[in-house]
Amino acid sequence: MKAKTAIIGGGLMGTTIAWHQAQRTDGLRETVVVCEKGEIGGGSSRRAAAVLSQVHQDLGLSGMARDSLKFYAGFEGRCGRSIGFQPCGVLTLPADAEAAERERLAAHKAELEAIGIRVDLLDAQELRELVPGISVVDGTMALYEPDGGFLDPARAMPAISALARDQGAVLRTGCEVDEILFEDGRVVGLLTSQGRVDTNQVVVAAGPWTASLLAAAGVDLPVQLMRTHQQNVARPLTSAETEAPDEELADLSQTWIRGFGEQHVGREVLERDLEERFADENEEQARHPVIVDREHGILVRCEPAQERTRVLDIGARHSEVVEEPDASSDEASQEFGAWARTALESRLPRYAGRESYGAEISWEDHTPDGLPIVGEVDGAEGLWVVAGFGQRGYEFAPSIGEGMAQALTGKPISAFDPELLSPARYHVRRRADATSGGRSS
Ligand SMILES: Cc1cc2nc3c(=O)[nH]c(=O)nc-3n(C[C@H](O)[C@H](O)[C@H](O)COP(=O)(O)OP(=O)(O)OC[C@H]3O[C@@H](n4cnc5c(N)ncnc54)[C@H](O)[C@@H]3O)c2cc1C
Repeated sequence: MKAKTAIIGGGLMGTTIAWHQAQRTDGLRETVVVCEKGEIGGGSSRRAAAVLSQVHQDLGLSGMARDSLKFYAGFEGRCGRSIGFQPCGVLTLPADAEAAERERLAAHKAELEAIGIRVDLLDAQELRELVPGISVVDGTMALYEPDGGFLDPARAMPAISALARDQGAVLRTGCEVDEILFEDGRVVGLLTSQGRVDTNQVVVAAGPWTASLLAAAGVDLPVQLMRTHQQNVARPLTSAETEAPDEELADLSQTWIRGFGEQHVGREVLERDLEERFADENEEQARHPVIVDREHGILVRCEPAQERTRVLDIGARHSEVVEEPDASSDEASQEFGAWARTALESRLPRYAGRESYGAEISWEDHTPDGLPIVGEVDGAEGLWVVAGFGQRGYEFAPSIGEGMAQALTGKPISAFDPELLSPARYHVRRRADATSGGRSS
């Protein structure tokens, strides 16, 4: 087939870019094709906690996360599909409660507010009120983002890929890219398990597989691949459940006519905004904000749809460097599970005694400066890379999708700072002596 743009990888990045690019192109004459070796969203995107925080050391990243959060918050109203967005708030607890750290947080709050991010600086008493039962020492200060929250990847990935298809993008599953083809330093196509794709634009958005795919094409990417774990624990009991275990069943009788039957449309119903009125009141809500706990090195995120909570290793204390995702065993470490529980219970004692639901492993791609690598590769005209998102790709995907589509259609990039994320900052270029872009070469 012939394509205007071929994207390697049908994860969050690949499908988001395809969606934005397909909006700018004529699907019949200028096809946008995504080649995904497995299932759409089957890589890191499915395993992510999909937490949306805007607290980053780099304000450029915070700005992208702010724009992306707004995009996700309005997604259902605009696109008519649920991505399971829960604005439960995100609390970031610092590594210690020293005075210097408190000053740093206050300065950071001012910087974030200056770019339009709503953030509160809470003291120990306010933290105890926000998260009943949380264990913090007096003198602790923390940043709280009331608008932050998380998505449900199991809903977000089908929603985004359906929109890409609606716009005319072709999403091929079970289509493994074996080789990127070059002529005279320029991309001319792909060899895939489903045949050849002729194209002058290739975007490599293959998540943890990106570095090895590019290495085979003569491009070394400064990305470290980490194998990480996350532990699942039964959700905490509410105070009502603790006091009265035989919880009353929810009364569903009025739910379907809420806002429709004349007798039931109270003034307060009409005054609520549309998304809120159509929200499913019977959907489980998060039982506490997301907690980014830098002291213990964990991130705690409720998973209401599965009645559990996830605990992630954010300090890489139990992560290991690996060469390839496939080369690692899929078995999660027992040691990590025990460590994660101890860290969780010391911050949130209400999880003590709650059942463990096992651990999962996944892979993250990290760059030395913690910033993603997004842009065209020097010495390889038409070859674009989108990589290095670590644990924070959901926070940037809408900005990356929009900005990449701008770049691919020759427009100036306004959705992110191309200099900040440029591969050129690491002198990423295709080796002059590279003869083939194939895994077999
Ligand atoms: C444990 C964990 C927790 C996370 N938590 C968060 C979070 O809370 N918030 C947040 O913002 N981000 C989070 N992230 C990060 C986020 O999940 C990723 O940044 C994002 O999913 C990356 O999307 P992607 O499309 O680049 O990669 P992927 O989703 O991995 O997609 C890449 C795709 O490429 C395909 N592929 C690979 N090689 C080939 C080939 N040769 N041919 C064809 N297809 C190929 C793969 O099958 C895969 O589907 C987390 C990540 C992990 C691992």
